[in-house]
Amino acid sequence: MIVLKSKNEIEIMRQAGQIAAEALEALKGAVRPGITTAELDAIAHSIITKRGAKPSFKGYHGFPGSICSSVNQQVVHGIPSRKVVLKEGDIISLDVGATYKGYVGDCAATFPVGAVSDQAIRLMQTTQEALMAAIAVARRGNYLEDISGAVQDYAESRGYAVVRQYVGHGVGRQMHEEPQIPNYRQGKRGPQLKPGMTLAIEPMVNEGVAETVTLKDKWTVVTEDGKLSAHFEHSIAVTDGEPEILTLL
Ligand code: MG
Repeated sequence: MIVLKSKNEIEIMRQAGQIAAEALEALKGAVRPGITTAELDAIAHSIITKRGAKPSFKGYHGFPGSICSSVNQQVVHGIPSRKVVLKEGDIISLDVGATYKGYVGDCAATFPVGAVSDQAIRLMQTTQEALMAAIAVARRGNYLEDISGAVQDYAESRGYAVVRQYVGHGVGRQMHEEPQIPNYRQGKRGPQLKPGMTLAIEPMVNEGVAETVTLKDKWTVVTEDGKLSAHFEHSIAVTDGEPEILTLL
């Protein structure tokens, strides 16, 4: 069942989204060669808790971090570590969730570490643009597949593959609510979009093949071919008019 949110609930989700977005913005400013992903984790944890929220990911199915930090060929769910030191030329995908007054804001972005290759920049830009193309069709009367198709069409038109094993999701009182939001067409239009739906749309786009594997730590997802991956995410609300991004600063 897809839970529709009231105006009051969406107002709280806007606040949760703001906190997650603030933490992600601080991480963007902190990413540089020499910093560890454990330090990034501590920065996000501090901002989220100072604002009276909780890091949604901490302890989720036993996840040890407050954020997910996934470097280069890592797609999602990388565990922050003192042993992971960022270096010039890396790209890093950072995923932040904040739970505030019982509601979750969830957002992610991939950032360059210092100067990165033109290929890496193009992959990151494409993934962000695929997200924005998907948000643009998250409108009353459209269907879930319009979102999925927007991501797939844009990413594939630029020569990339979308990850199939991990998907976006409804968001609200739970971090993961119905519906699942694949980043590719499934041959059925799915539920019709209605005002009050709150969705975490999150394209994961690979430079090479779509396939992924999970490392022995049981969390970190990497591309099967070792090529780069990028990840952008916003939590949004379907409204009577324009889609509202809840995780904007
Ligand atoms: Mg998410």
